[in-house]
Amino acid sequence: EAFAALGLAPEIVSALIATGYTVPTAVQEQAIPAAISGRDLLVSSPTGSGKTAAFMLPAIQRFSEAALAAAAAPRAPRAEGEARRRPVQQAARPGLLVLTPTRELAMQVTVASETYGKHLRRLRTVSILGGVPYRQQLALLAKQPEILVATPGRLLDHLERGRIDLSQLQMLVLDEADRMLDMGFIDDIETIVAATPPSRQTLLFSATIDGKISSLTKRLLKDPIRIEI
Ligand code: AMP
Repeated sequence: EAFAALGLAPEIVSALIATGYTVPTAVQEQAIPAAISGRDLLVSSPTGSGKTAAFMLPAIQRFSEAALAAAAAPRAPRAEGEARRRPVQQAARPGLLVLTPTRELAMQVTVASETYGKHLRRLRTVSILGGVPYRQQLALLAKQPEILVATPGRLLDHLERGRIDLSQLQMLVLDEADRMLDMGFIDDIETIVAATPPSRQTLLFSATIDGKISSLTKRLLKDPIRIEI
């Protein structure tokens, strides 16, 4: 199976087969093994090339490894009375954050994440979008999702209110980075990135790589593998 050969777990490959994917696209063939190896990526790839799966599949693969390790580890016993008290809501501490320029794209990425990860029970994806009531988003964040898909402005609101903590982030994806810069999100992106640990893995996808993207790339990516489709 072509997707298994790229390093994806059987649970993920079976979800892809159910979705009707049999052959990886060019960007998937190059980006999936490179991202699974842990390297940062700088990818120029147009819309429609299958780029969503090119970042979500390796991301889910890395989380499935972490989830299997967590399932094997013994759980800490509950402290006395902890179950009955209604706790103050803890900040959500995602392992993966995907930033997208628009609500529509964020919703598409969320659906893709749920589809590809449907056989991995511990993996929850939540989208954080402008225009959605805060109360509703706080209820979703209370579930401690591993994956957040967000537009930069609303993510920043939650970050500043202490509802999201990015100190445990393992992977950051910037989807359609050129459009995010065109829409004026550069300062928001810089503030969000500053709240993440330097140890994170970063994948940057853009239709074009121009001067502005190159300078962002120098600050965000560590020795990236460059992929051009
Ligand atoms: P994207 O470029 O991520 O917006 O994907 C474009 C479309 O291609 C979406 O409808 C995907 O569901 C579909 N797609 C992505 N990868 C594959 C694949 N390997 N085989 C078939 N369809 C795919």
